[in-house]
Amino acid sequence: MTEKPVAMHTSMAEFVDPKVKTIPTTDAILKDILPFFPKTARVVSGWLSMDDLYWKINFHWDYLLETIEHCETLALDEQPLRRLVTIRKSLLGSAPNPARGYRQSPIGLPKDQSSHESVLNRHGVVKRAKADFAAVVKTSTIHELSPRDKKRIALAYAPVARPAQGKHSTGYALDIKGDNLEIKRIARSLGASLVFDEVSHVHCEWKNGVDTTASGGDDRAAAAERASRQAIDSKVGPMRHCLLRTA
Ligand SMILES: [Zn+2]
Repeated sequence: MTEKPVAMHTSMAEFVDPKVKTIPTTDAILKDILPFFPKTARVVSGWLSMDDLYWKINFHWDYLLETIEHCETLALDEQPLRRLVTIRKSLLGSAPNPARGYRQSPIGLPKDQSSHESVLNRHGVVKRAKADFAAVVKTSTIHELSPRDKKRIALAYAPVARPAQGKHSTGYALDIKGDNLEIKRIARSLGASLVFDEVSHVHCEWKNGVDTTASGGDDRAAAAERASRQAIDSKVGPMRHCLLRTA
C-alpha cells in the first residue's frame, strides 16, 4: 500500500469560497464535513436569503440566453437555428429589469426591479426554455461546432430550483464544486439527506445534521472507505498539528 493519501482539507478558508454566506446551522455542517473532503472540492454556495434565490433564477435566465446567443453564431442547420430563435424570444418575453448583468455579478447583483411574482413566473419560462434547449443540444451539432466546454454548455440547461423548493434559505444546503462523483460519494457517506448533481456542482443537504461515524450515511461502501482515510489521517495527524501550530 504505497498509494499516496489524497490531500484533505485542513483550512476553512481553503474549503469555503469567501463569497459563501452562512448562518450557525451552515457553520456547524461545514466544521463537521471539512476533514472528509479532498482539496479539489470547494464549497461555492451556502445559506441564501429568498432574495438571493430569486436572483439565482435571473442568473440562469441570463446564462441560458447568452449560451443561446453563442449557439446562434454557429453554422447550425436551419431547423435547430429556428428553434433557438423561438427559445430566445420566449426568454426575452420574461426579462428581468435590468435585463442583463446577473451572469457576471456576485449573488444579488444587479438588483432586479421586477416583483417576486414575476420572478417566479420567469422560473417557469426558464424551466421550459432549458428543456427545449437541452433537446436542441442533443439533436444538433452544437457540441461539434462550439469551442466551448461541454460542461459550460450543460450549465445552461442544468435545472434551477423554484425558490420555495430550494433549501439554501434553511442553511443546511451546500453547493460543492470539484469532482462530482467523488463529492456525491463523500456527501452520502456523511449522511447527507439529499445529494443532487447540478452539473457545475453538487447540491447537498444535511437536514438531519452530519453523520461522522464511519458507519453513517446511506452509502456504506463510501463510509467504509472514509473510515480507512480517517486511519491514514490520524497517522499524519501529529505532523499536521505541528504544521498548523507554526503557521
Ligand atoms: Zn444548491
